[in-house]
Amino acid sequence: MTNISITILGHIKRKINTKKLQQWKSDLFKVRSVKEIGDINFNNENYWQELSDSKATEMLKSNSEEVIQILITEYSLENNYYMRRIDKNGAIISFFEVGDILQRYNIPIENFILKNIYELVALKEIYSDLPQTKIEIPDIIHEETRGCLFDMNGLKSDIWYTTEKPTLCSQCEAFLASKHVTKDFIKTLKRELKQIRKQFFYRISDFIKLHPIVSIIIGFFVAICPNMAANFLYDFIKFYICKK
Ligand SMILES: [Zn+2]
Repeated sequence: MTNISITILGHIKRKINTKKLQQWKSDLFKVRSVKEIGDINFNNENYWQELSDSKATEMLKSNSEEVIQILITEYSLENNYYMRRIDKNGAIISFFEVGDILQRYNIPIENFILKNIYELVALKEIYSDLPQTKIEIPDIIHEETRGCLFDMNGLKSDIWYTTEKPTLCSQCEAFLASKHVTKDFIKTLKRELKQIRKQFFYRISDFIKLHPIVSIIIGFFVAICPNMAANFLYDFIKFYICKK
């Protein structure tokens, strides 16, 4: 079980449901703490707020007892990444641009955070220290977007596809096995990823958009069923109860 410590840095445009993160049922990790700190003064000439790896590393130093420390921010990151591993136990997650993309697809930002936590926990299982983004991109991360936990998402707009229903593709599963990650870990990871879903209302809405004819047919039967049931009940009462 990996312990996670989250620090929210600066103003976030969308409210994060931190309870959902802390109460997330997982056999692989536990979010032990969530704290917030104010914004920082970048003091640059062009007023651009980009959080560098070095600046973020300085900010995480005080929490060194936690296994994985995550800084969450709205500031952009180096090379416009949405997540950067900055230390053997630390990472930054940014909502810059990503927050708007997820909102367009009605995907909760907590799901994006959870998806990234699972990615970090799995990387930690392969390498004892997180590979730092500025030094290497781990081999398991692939350029092709497959809806997999290890999609690179070089095109940031693809992030919705990876976050909507994150899975573990067969190649990544084989990669994990080749690195002696236990079958139990892989099985648990696959099972828990299935829990990352949109809210029920939006899943229904997506189904209707994707299958309009089927939805009309279902709607028709749903509408007439209570009527049929009422008629049946009326006949039943009339013939079997009122007769007596
Ligand atoms: Zn994959």
